[in-house]
Amino acid sequence: MRIRVGHLYPDYLNIYADRGNIAVLAARAAARGHELNVRAIGMGDPVPAGGVDLFYIGGGQDREQELVAHDLAAKGDALREAVGGGAAFLGVCGGYQLLGRSYVDVAGNDLPGIGLLPLHTVAGDRRMIGDVLLECDWAGRTLAGFENHAGRTILDGGAEPLGRVVSGFGNDGRSGFEGCRAGRVYGTYLHGPLLPRNPWFADRLLTEALAHAGLDTELPPLPDELEREAHAVSAERARTRGGRF
Ligand code: GLN
Repeated sequence: MRIRVGHLYPDYLNIYADRGNIAVLAARAAARGHELNVRAIGMGDPVPAGGVDLFYIGGGQDREQELVAHDLAAKGDALREAVGGGAAFLGVCGGYQLLGRSYVDVAGNDLPGIGLLPLHTVAGDRRMIGDVLLECDWAGRTLAGFENHAGRTILDGGAEPLGRVVSGFGNDGRSGFEGCRAGRVYGTYLHGPLLPRNPWFADRLLTEALAHAGLDTELPPLPDELEREAHAVSAERARTRGGRF
């Protein structure tokens, strides 16, 4: 099967292993006999209607977010329609912030988001940097990664976080939650790199993308020895030196 990935603004939002996340999706798809077809969706490019199974938007600094935010907002209708049609979506860090309603950056600029996730973000003056470990009760799994953000993300009442913070700051350093999910849309501050250390999450995205492409399937497990080790090292780092105020 061909899995069509739309990588939004790879030239702007690409810090901390965003390409590595795509490489993991490609390798894990190939190991199951599927092909990942990645197309960049950049500034001024139209969103191919119905032609994307999984959207990806990565991390960036405020400056890059400012450069893309209005173009992304102009793509908002097409992206919301694609998600309404069952496409999956992963937003990381700066990209996550723009999946909410708005992001007020460090300089006070009020950037529009596309409202795919029920949240908004406001920058604070202390950056939240460090290793993070999350408990994702909805999946019965953990996620380990690294965060580096000034934005404090506030979920709307009733919004579903991606996980409960075991160690680290998470969305705002105080709520005890990290990320957000709504249907097949996921947002998280974890990068550096997210999917290589958390292969179950990569497989979940692939499974949902395949379902959109017309194939309801369970992916056969892979050996994942290195991945398990990477997760364990990262989780331990978070436990011993995850950030807190
Ligand atoms: N500019 C955002 C912040 O600092 C996102 C940073 C990032 O993507 N690493 O909150």
